Amino acid sequence: MLSSRLEFIDCPLCGASSTKTWGTENGFECVRCTRCELVYVNPRPSLAEISHANEIGEHRSGAEALNVVYKRSRRKARRYASTIRTVFPDVLASSKPVTWLDVGAGFGELVEVLQSMLPAGSRVTGVEPMASKVAAAQKIGLPVYQKDLSQITERFDFISLINVFAHIPDFHDFLGRLRPLLREKGELFVETGNGGDLPSMKEYPDLLYLPDHLVFAGEGHLRAFLAEAGFSIIATHTVRIDTAMHFGKTLVKKAIGRKVKLAMPYQSRFRRVLVRARLNAPTG
Ligand SMILES: [Zn+2]
Repeated sequence: MLSSRLEFIDCPLCGASSTKTWGTENGFECVRCTRCELVYVNPRPSLAEISHANEIGEHRSGAEALNVVYKRSRRKARRYASTIRTVFPDVLASSKPVTWLDVGAGFGELVEVLQSMLPAGSRVTGVEPMASKVAAAQKIGLPVYQKDLSQITERFDFISLINVFAHIPDFHDFLGRLRPLLREKGELFVETGNGGDLPSMKEYPDLLYLPDHLVFAGEGHLRAFLAEAGFSIIATHTVRIDTAMHFGKTLVKKAIGRKVKLAMPYQSRFRRVLVRARLNAPTG
């Protein structure tokens, strides 16, 4: 039986313990580190509880359980295809096959997109902690597996982490576990929001989904995590999401009774941040 006891932590990036409040939701508090300004949930559920929640897709919280299973999304596949065209034009233009691991593959949307876009002979694999998503992906023939990183023996040219960052309690440790899975000069692709660049949750364009999301980085925080783990940034792209179309979609969701956050378009400093980074050559 897992307990619902919360743990107080120091800043996952710089280790400082001095914070101020950034936002609250679902009975959880997000704080901002007064030294490096990273935003993170504190106190947070225990590591065992976080890991269990990621497997079943449900987080217990003060008021009610937060269900984060969602559905397989066709729109997501279209967005991923556009992202890959933006960030990896050279890989797509080349005829050289590559190996690619998508971590946090969900229903396998990116795996499927990459299978259709990467050069012929490329091999794409996904790993995902949530059993129901893995089963759904496998049912339609996608190579998505419920594996821990420690169970993977292969090495890859590319590893992608799309909307994974915010779920990881210790990203520094996580990058250390990914590094051995990359080939020499292998690349990492990270996509996350820049919540940590916003002065408070008021400017965040969506619900925070606490405690499914545990850490909100800014662009600089993401660079710092990557540099510290031995990666060099190749390219960064930022994409705004608070468009008129996003506003329209949010209105529709509100009309059908979904819990949403409604904010005027083109006001927020929130961006999706896409970072492509290369593993540094071993020193010495
Ligand atoms: Zn800090």
